[in-house]
Amino acid sequence: MAKTVLVINSGSSSIKYQLVDVENGDALASGLVEKIGEPTDGFYTHKYNGEKHKFTEPIPDHETGLKRVLEFFDQFGPNLKEYGLAAIGHRVVAGGAVFPEPALVTEKTIHQVEDLATLAPLHNGPEAKGAEVMKKLMPDVPAGFVFDSSFFQQLPAVSYTYALNKEVAEKYQIRRYGAHGTSHEYVGSVVPSLLNKPAEGLKQIVLHIGNGASASAQIGGRPVETSMGLTPLEGLVMGSRTGDIDPAVVFHLIRNAGLNVDELDKLFNKQSGMTGLTGRGDMRDVEQLAENGDENAQLALDIYHHRIVGYVGNYWAQLGGLDAITFTAGVGENSAETRAAVIDKFAFAGVKLDAEKNAIRSDEPRVISAADSSVAVCVVPTNEELAIARKVIKISEEGDVYGNKVA
Ligand code: ADP
Repeated sequence: MAKTVLVINSGSSSIKYQLVDVENGDALASGLVEKIGEPTDGFYTHKYNGEKHKFTEPIPDHETGLKRVLEFFDQFGPNLKEYGLAAIGHRVVAGGAVFPEPALVTEKTIHQVEDLATLAPLHNGPEAKGAEVMKKLMPDVPAGFVFDSSFFQQLPAVSYTYALNKEVAEKYQIRRYGAHGTSHEYVGSVVPSLLNKPAEGLKQIVLHIGNGASASAQIGGRPVETSMGLTPLEGLVMGSRTGDIDPAVVFHLIRNAGLNVDELDKLFNKQSGMTGLTGRGDMRDVEQLAENGDENAQLALDIYHHRIVGYVGNYWAQLGGLDAITFTAGVGENSAETRAAVIDKFAFAGVKLDAEKNAIRSDEPRVISAADSSVAVCVVPTNEELAIARKVIKISEEGDVYGNKVA
């Protein structure tokens, strides 16, 4: 019988789920619950066996949504018992300094996740709620939290400490926590075997560029730098986030435009980045516009690439050498143009793509640099669900580092 994990990603108004076979990494079924708690109807999509089941009805809360999802598994398959459901995995954005490792879901850890909501106001509340509901609906199945921030808890102080007043920073727990950690760790772990090199000492940069985007520098699988900060707003230009910007822009807008905190939050997180520059948040649209001669879209692309190049150069120096640059997530996996625009800037240092390999579309991890490139360039499709599933199986079998065990 297969050994599977149901991986759940609860957002404030949506829930994504995937049933993962931990042995072969296959996604057996997946789905989406949208518009939870909204006055209009919500949507369900459940995918299994090449079939897509869609429903529209009001979804007042997460409990209603998750109950329906379990009914879909009964009704449309796969049957969770027959498919050897061994555990449930909950993705959590912010684990702060409290959770450097995954944790089993208990009443205590649910409260701790809730309490960390100050670090991720839109995420931790719904994530804790999702775990609480699933514990009620499936009390006999072990469940674990996997934190997007855990991997970057290993960052050295020199990288996670802001040059902000020390007392204030300590009092309010202000530091760089990073995000997308599960993806950076997973992708970084695939690269050594792809290059046929030992993981130990391997110096690499991982570029997770999707709608959200972040870079990491790693040595021997340990992170030494990352671009996201206290929250995911810092760093690269993203679909709708500014990435790095002079914080004095905030003071300026408060003083001159009379914006309040929520308006600023929305402006920086939802109405900026590619969306703010071009009106389009999807990179395919921006690339299309630029191809059709839209100068504004071309400038936006140039800004986007410019920022990535800056981070790669910075991290290369911080690492003191470089073995591999790896692209992942929606843009990184699919946009040969973005990869070429970034890598071509490092021609001066002998980094070279193999144009044919770069143009190939594939779901497989692959090397796309030329044989004589000074640094290997790779594409590794990220698989956060599989990484979460593996971690949850481990703690459900061995217990977590906080002393919790499955009864
Ligand atoms: P998220 O951060 O929401 O998980 P993804 O990693 O799924 O995002 O990336 C989504 C983004 O990937 C889309 O907004 C789109 O811009 C980009 N993308 C997907 N396919 C392509 C493509 N063929 N070319 C360029 N960009 C693409």
